[in-house]
Amino acid sequence: MKNILLLGGTGSVGSSSLKVIHQNKNEFNLYGISFDNNVDRAVEIIKDFSPNFIHTNNEESAKKLEKECGNFDTQVIFNKDDLQNLIVKDDVDIIISAISGFAGLETTMSAAKTGKTILLANKESIVVAGDLLMPLAKKYNTSIIPIDSEHNAIHQCLASCKSSKDISKVIITASGGPFLGKSIGELDTVTLEQALNHPNWSMGSKISIDSASLVNKCLELIEAKYLFDLQESFFDLVIHPQSIIHSVVTYVDGSSIAHMSNPDMTVPIANALSNNRKIPIQFNPMDLNGLNLSFEAFPKDRLFLEKMARDVCNEGGLTGTVFNAANEMAVTAFLNKEIKFSDIYSILNRTFNGKDMSKDIELESIYEMDKETRKQAKKVIESLT
Ligand code: MG
Repeated sequence: MKNILLLGGTGSVGSSSLKVIHQNKNEFNLYGISFDNNVDRAVEIIKDFSPNFIHTNNEESAKKLEKECGNFDTQVIFNKDDLQNLIVKDDVDIIISAISGFAGLETTMSAAKTGKTILLANKESIVVAGDLLMPLAKKYNTSIIPIDSEHNAIHQCLASCKSSKDISKVIITASGGPFLGKSIGELDTVTLEQALNHPNWSMGSKISIDSASLVNKCLELIEAKYLFDLQESFFDLVIHPQSIIHSVVTYVDGSSIAHMSNPDMTVPIANALSNNRKIPIQFNPMDLNGLNLSFEAFPKDRLFLEKMARDVCNEGGLTGTVFNAANEMAVTAFLNKEIKFSDIYSILNRTFNGKDMSKDIELESIYEMDKETRKQAKKVIESLT
């Protein structure tokens, strides 16, 4: 029996993880979860899974939860040290890092030092701190298995790969999101509801906006560079509107291995939880009869975004922190209806370009640069509103 600690338990990846755990109760036990403010969902999880511990940083959530769950055996914890202690506890075998955004960095860094298995959904932590996180995981013998669908697909396509010298190309597919085929000019007038309405995936609001802007794919390019330790030039981004093929690896002998499934996060999570064994889950089988798969180039008017991501891959240091912070600020402003959708691109351009980014990377310098970039992005946002 493997004990799971699920960080970000009430979010979308959290829900998919719980489905897989529930369907494989003989193998996996939900030992602990952390969440922010969705107390109703947290109570449901306690009733369904009786974890030993539940953590929230949010004092109000903790108070509400204690009131609601007086009769359960789950212990409510709510300070940082308690969470630290839980992450390093010997009882925990697998840590699922599913907190969205920069907020997931601290716990992911702590998890990297445990020597346990981390299932990583929090791509932002690898974008901002890949240069620290990957060597740290290596040093402590911590294995990081991606559950981002494209990266888990690459992980599966590489299962029989003996040496990175055998790899010729890796294709990361992108659905194109709800605004597929629209130019940036046409994105001036789209609404928040349209942007959140992804055609293939049901996800949290931050990643839904990132998918609609195609920034998500750029974050994923950086994520892939670190996870698979390959130069950015190995990766191509290709639009594939059906989200059936999640990634393709082409080998030097001309053969390509693609990973296919209907778009459903339980598929990569089942693979990662079982570490490449095949565990049974309920899934919607693919019907190949009449299935049309299509592909097209990444849109030309978004190539400047891809270039920023490739610069982050090549320059490293604090460039990922700046790219991520500018984007998180832009997404929050759009979610708060302060800016137009297309302003996301101006904010990224005006915050990222021409910034002096030292190559010195430490956790402290990441936090400093994150703060500084958010201030700068705020000024840009104010100038737009
Ligand atoms: Mg993805």
